[in-house]
Amino acid sequence: MTKEKKILTLAGDGIGPEVMEQALHVLDWVQENSNLSFVVEKDLVGGAAIDANGVPLTEEVIAKAKAADAVLFGSVGGPKWEKVGFDKRPEVGIIGLRKELGLFANLRSAIVFDSLVGASTVKPEIIQGLDLMIVRESTGGVYFGEPRGIETLPDGTRKGVNTEVYTSVEIERIARVAFELARQRQNRVCSVEKCNVMESGLLWKEVVTELHQKEYSDVQLSHMLADNCAMQLVRNPKQFDTILTGNLFGDILSDLAAMLTGSLGMLPSATLGARQENGVIPALYEPIHGSAPDIAGQGKANPLAQILSLAMMLRYSFDEQAISEKVVHACEAVLNQGLRTPDIMSDGMKLVGTEDMGKAVLAELKK
Ligand code: NAD
Repeated sequence: MTKEKKILTLAGDGIGPEVMEQALHVLDWVQENSNLSFVVEKDLVGGAAIDANGVPLTEEVIAKAKAADAVLFGSVGGPKWEKVGFDKRPEVGIIGLRKELGLFANLRSAIVFDSLVGASTVKPEIIQGLDLMIVRESTGGVYFGEPRGIETLPDGTRKGVNTEVYTSVEIERIARVAFELARQRQNRVCSVEKCNVMESGLLWKEVVTELHQKEYSDVQLSHMLADNCAMQLVRNPKQFDTILTGNLFGDILSDLAAMLTGSLGMLPSATLGARQENGVIPALYEPIHGSAPDIAGQGKANPLAQILSLAMMLRYSFDEQAISEKVVHACEAVLNQGLRTPDIMSDGMKLVGTEDMGKAVLAELKK
């Protein structure tokens, strides 16, 4: 029986549309080679939506995202829109979608493919075989906390304010995601905060500890300060299995983990919400990189993170593990053939552009 799934694709800005095009070719292949059938709708977000509609995220796009089984997102932002008001910036496109869809759990995996061990700036023995998952809370914390803003003080100087806020409910629901995921992995969670200097961090640690004692005592739990975690990720990243952390630290630590693997262009992510009454878990899949304005329009972008985001969608939203793995293996196979986009290029490898990398993945799938 054919299962019809509604996908909203939002390619966004910069390299977003370039890498999305390659992922959509893979999606076509999946449709032709599985019992899945997709209704794919495309729309604008970020700077492209500002140019067309004056805002980075329209009500219409929010409604389409809510009606979809999954959203496949590219990236937003770029110098063209740097001067627009803070609440209208392209990045509001992604932050707003996360908020509107209640996508509180951001899953970012950092896996080192054997053939890319040499692409990292870190010594091979430190990263070979690395497979870690960062579970980042993504609708709370300092990016959303009130009060916020920039104000002029009576003496004419200015003050910028942001506020880190976490409730016990927010902490518990994200911790639950991390514990559940860890059970499917190496069963280890490291919870990361700054309880030495932040009350929100203290509450975080208490709530995670309580939940662990009550429901997840079979999972090995440790706690670490965020600054130490940054250091440990470079020193010995393989000590970690699942890292659980808030929005701000997760943002920074996951970029750090990305560079362990060699390139931002290699890493996919999923952002999930709570299961709805109709059984659908709201979900958005996107590469962790941004719009890379420095290489946009040059055919140099690595499309693998976007294609691997599609693979995550097949796995987590559509429960199609086998075909998802096939897509991942096709990406790995082109790397094993020595094909490299500039961001992961090394001696003796063959330099290719975005389109040729996408074509090579398709050729692997068709074998
Ligand atoms: P970035 O991720 O866009 O780029 C950082 C560096 O990595 C650049 O040198 C870029 O060329 C390289 N890079 C990124 N993706 C690549 C890929 N697929 N292939 C090859 N190289 C790649 O981060 P940035 O430069 O800090 O931000 C640029 C814009 O993107 C900003 O406007 C930022 O706000 C936005 N941004 C958006 C998202 C999102 O849409 N979710 C995430 C991060 C940054």
